[in-house]
Amino acid sequence: MKNIPYGRQNITTEDIDAVIETLKSDYLTQGPKILEFEKAFANYIGSKYAVAVANGTAALHLCTLALDVKKEQKVITTPITFAASANCVRYCDGEVVFADIDPETYLIDYNAVEKLLKASPKGTYNGIIPVDFAGRAVDLEKFRALADEYNLWIIEDSCHSPGGFFVDSKGKEQNCGNGNFADLAIFSFHPVKHIASGEGGMVTTNDEALYHKLLQLRTHGIVKSEDAFTNSIEFAGGDTQYPLWYMEMQHLGFNYRLTDFQAALGLSQLSRADQGLARRRDIAATYLEAFKNQSFVKGQSGVIEGHAYHLYILEVEDRLGLYNYLRTKNIFAQIHYIPCHLMPYYRQFGWREGDMSQAEKYYKNCISLPMYPTLTAEEQQFVITSIHEFYD
Ligand SMILES: *Cc1c(COP(=O)(O)O)cnc(C)c1O
Repeated sequence: MKNIPYGRQNITTEDIDAVIETLKSDYLTQGPKILEFEKAFANYIGSKYAVAVANGTAALHLCTLALDVKKEQKVITTPITFAASANCVRYCDGEVVFADIDPETYLIDYNAVEKLLKASPKGTYNGIIPVDFAGRAVDLEKFRALADEYNLWIIEDSCHSPGGFFVDSKGKEQNCGNGNFADLAIFSFHPVKHIASGEGGMVTTNDEALYHKLLQLRTHGIVKSEDAFTNSIEFAGGDTQYPLWYMEMQHLGFNYRLTDFQAALGLSQLSRADQGLARRRDIAATYLEAFKNQSFVKGQSGVIEGHAYHLYILEVEDRLGLYNYLRTKNIFAQIHYIPCHLMPYYRQFGWREGDMSQAEKYYKNCISLPMYPTLTAEEQQFVITSIHEFYD
């Protein structure tokens, strides 16, 4: 049996053809595929705007820049996430405040966030970065109400959940990243995520002003439209109007652009996103059935409406033993995540063991099982049998 990783991309001949076609075109970057991908992605998610960027981390950084995060501003996030969700606050010199997870959902605990907010005067915190961890959607309707009360912005980290949704109080499905509740949302197109473009990312929003800010910051803070210029026509070298070459760098931006051939790959992948999601949900249902009522299982992802199943997680006894045993079978399970607040980098700010008891308890037992659309029924059965074998 070949290696079975925890996640992997699915590249088809259509994907390859789409990339080759773009490689033969006039534009390798800053061409038409970017806008095409952005429009198709916004349409898929249900947001007004989308901005394609170099990767998910760049997407997060552009968000904190666009929201003007600065020194001494406090932003709340979960410790059970990829470090980038927190790091984007540090890129802007802000302070990361972790709030513990809900042990049932593994998502940032609403009550823990509320408790933090209530414990300090209003204005102490500036924003919150909830993560649709493993593919399970955060109830952002609840968080939006809280954010409004405390005047906070929300960046939704939806890297795990394109196509995921929660059901709001009116019974309506609200897609992760649709911009109805969060100010900004971000996605990644790393190969283990639902849609792969090699490296790649996207910011979605319904806020037109933020959209324009993101576009500028993605390309060095440069503006090209005449009505935005602040230098004079005379300085610019024109006579009665600005010359066509003229542009202004008005903010300190970056080069966070995606290339056109990556966008072509992303677009092609996006056209199969629903298929992939359906397969992930089938795999989850099979895992649930296989591990229901097993004495070695302390918790598991289960089958949840709207879950996008980037990961399927079990909490088990003797996690180390199982992990090592699976490796002998070429099954490469993974651990998501080592609590972010206990990374050496964050310990320097005073975070210690015991600060996030639920997250730390979860970390002791969690393991992410292979989960990707091309995982065959036979391979999944092999994973399941191997796990049962280990505990027998
Ligand atoms: C993958 C991921 C990121 C970062 O995305 P990159 O494209 O790898 O930079 C951020 N947050 C979460 C939750 C992720 O899973």
